[in-house]
Amino acid sequence: MDLRYTEEEEAFRAEVRAWLEDVLPSVPPEPDRNDWAARRVYDMGWQRMCYDAGYAGINWPKEYGGRGATPTEHLIFLEETERARAPYVGMNFVGQLHAGPTLVVEATPEQKAFYLPGILKGEHVWCQGFSEPNAGSDLASLRCKAERDGDDYVISGQKIWTSYGHVAEYCEMLVRTDFDVPKHKGITWLIVPMDRAGIDIRPLLTMEGSSEFCEVFFDDVRVPIANRVGDENDGWRVANVTLSFERGTAFVSDVLQTQVLVRDLAELARTITSRGATKWEDAGLRRDLGKIAAELDALWALTKRNISQAQRTGLVGPGGSAFKLAFTELRNRLGDLAMHLLDRASLSLDDIGDIRIDEQMRGRFWALSMTIAAGTSQVQRNIVAERVLGLPRDR
Ligand SMILES: Cc1cc2nc3c(=O)[nH]c(=O)nc-3n(C[C@H](O)[C@H](O)[C@H](O)COP(=O)(O)OP(=O)(O)OC[C@H]3O[C@@H](n4cnc5c(N)ncnc54)[C@H](O)[C@@H]3O)c2cc1C
Repeated sequence: MDLRYTEEEEAFRAEVRAWLEDVLPSVPPEPDRNDWAARRVYDMGWQRMCYDAGYAGINWPKEYGGRGATPTEHLIFLEETERARAPYVGMNFVGQLHAGPTLVVEATPEQKAFYLPGILKGEHVWCQGFSEPNAGSDLASLRCKAERDGDDYVISGQKIWTSYGHVAEYCEMLVRTDFDVPKHKGITWLIVPMDRAGIDIRPLLTMEGSSEFCEVFFDDVRVPIANRVGDENDGWRVANVTLSFERGTAFVSDVLQTQVLVRDLAELARTITSRGATKWEDAGLRRDLGKIAAELDALWALTKRNISQAQRTGLVGPGGSAFKLAFTELRNRLGDLAMHLLDRASLSLDDIGDIRIDEQMRGRFWALSMTIAAGTSQVQRNIVAERVLGLPRDR
């Protein structure tokens, strides 16, 4: 691993920076979180702008619309977009950050040619149908079944916590294709078009009052066998490829956003006063914030290590779990620290100057949910214990 950037990479950074300075003034303000139609226009519009400028799928193959550049250049692009506070990947999260990367590694050339350009151009939203009511942490226990009938699979069962399910065109989905073998060996990874007859999507309300995810019911839904990625019953292996991207590289922008947040909170601490002193004069708070800033630096080095490994092997591996665990737990602690700093405003939700306190509180709830999404912290600890440290198996 080499953590230094080359001259060519720094030239690429300057090019991205100049492009962002040029285009960001023309990006409209972010829409209301519950206005899904406007969010789609905003998120996919930004994706299209990136695509038109040659900055979509920076490390994806050129023949499918990517830039064919290195993962390090991808990292530089993310550093620059966060620094400039450009729009987040938003509803393109699943497509861009884990379904697409899985297709790059595992799909057939025909599947890549058909699905990857739609993700890169911001035409298709993807969702993830992995979890079920009785298969979350123990994902391999999933029971939503797919039976062969002619050229199709016929799917019956239920998924839950399907983020963006109500706005997605496609779902990366795990189904059970064999009930008579050990549970990990009877799973298949499928691409499911969300407009198929027999799909019933019911949005769920989060504690923030937003409908980010859904329950999805499948009643004899027909999907061509050609939509299978990997072999039949080899879906657990493909799912682990997806999860390694979801845990290992999908959070890269979030680390950068969190670095920006630490700086924002330090600024804020200088303006909030309590009992005649600014919060910044509290040595304990400065120490806690400084410790988090240092840990974020270490996490950035771990990110580069994961990216460097992905560059060599095409995959992130269990290092992604170590990263996901450390980052989401840290982000959660920072959420607590922000509440401590904001004091009563975190309950009254009164803005402080230009600082939107409701946004800060949303960030706090989001941090909590991130210790659950993509596999809980406890599950990541089990993976790190077994696959990185070689400790005895959980069960
Ligand atoms: C914001 C968000 C977005 C999500 N988006 C999606 C999505 O788009 N698609 C999708 O398929 N899923 C999604 N999920 C679901 C997510 O993957 C699951 O919630 C997660 O895997 C946990 O499963 P569960 O909720 O069933 O909890 P459970 O598995 O029931 O776990 C309950 C508790 O038991 C603990 N536990 C369970 N097993 C063990 C063990 N072996 N050792 C120690 N502790 C254990 C867990 O850590 C947890 O604290 C999302 C979740 C969130 C929060």
